[in-house]
Amino acid sequence: MRAVTLVSPGAVAVMDDWPEPVRGPGEVVVAVHGVGLCGSDLAVVAGHRPVPALPWVLGHEAFGVILSTGREVTDRRPGQRVVVEPNYPCLACGPCRAGVTSGCRARRAAGISEHGLLAERVAVPARFTWPVPDSWDDADVVCVEPLTVAVGAVRAGGLRAGDPCLVVGAGAQGLLVCLAVRQAGGVPYVVEPHEGRRALASEVGAEIAAEDARFPVAIETSGVPEAFEATVDRVADGGRLIVVGQSSRPARLSTFTLVQRRLTLRGRLIYDHPGDFAHTIALLRDHDLRPGRVLRARFELADAPAAFAQAADVPGKSWISLPRTEEDS
Ligand SMILES: [Zn+2]
Ligand SMILES: [Zn+2]
Repeated sequence: MRAVTLVSPGAVAVMDDWPEPVRGPGEVVVAVHGVGLCGSDLAVVAGHRPVPALPWVLGHEAFGVILSTGREVTDRRPGQRVVVEPNYPCLACGPCRAGVTSGCRARRAAGISEHGLLAERVAVPARFTWPVPDSWDDADVVCVEPLTVAVGAVRAGGLRAGDPCLVVGAGAQGLLVCLAVRQAGGVPYVVEPHEGRRALASEVGAEIAAEDARFPVAIETSGVPEAFEATVDRVADGGRLIVVGQSSRPARLSTFTLVQRRLTLRGRLIYDHPGDFAHTIALLRDHDLRPGRVLRARFELADAPAAFAQAADVPGKSWISLPRTEEDS
């Protein structure tokens, strides 16, 4: 079968002879219909996030249809349309038992610690597949995973109805945070150097932040240390700064500033199983969120190398759609 792999740092190739997935008793095989690209995929491709082996199957934001189920699986069935929750915590360690599976010490992550989901078929633990209605647009379904990150970040900010919220960076994650801020009753204001991304942020209902405005809540999505430093100055005294963008380069923040200005600084990592995905899917069912509005570029599987090459430069989220064969449509 075909799979999109990293063959060496910077080089992405579509392989035609990748082995079929081997399903465990608690797993399902999913025929993948679409995979979104995000910053962590690009970090893997660039070689900033080393992977255990090469070639390495990329991608983690996948949806598709269940083809077959392992013998221990009783609550999923072939033909079901599902989104994959691509982080698999152990559910047994201290953080997992406390409900904070994002802190799992043995967490497996598709595309990072094990092969990714950008292949025609993948084996996934059944409990990390989430059934979604057939009627939902592919564009909305492919955004479920990054939207879950966005909704969690906004919740961590403790935003109250009517609050303005500074959203730093209007890449795909920043745009989804803007939608989540609106959904929470707040008003998103973006800061973003790229003009095309600013325009897209306006399209999804965000304002452009004035230079001198201060905000009770700010969410940093860019992962650029200088942007983090500038964001600190824009949080109102007593305000909260939630960080989801990451960099290994240090950023400067004095404890004098932190204390004197009574700031709350919080890092927020992905989502916790199972509550956060369940929450996002309920939001999509009950509200007109249409996260697919942040998508711009759609690529066929054969054009995956081009998709990765342009993903960092074009505004909006890119995704790859896979052909549907007879048995999974
Ligand atoms: Zn992602
Ligand atoms: Zn754990």
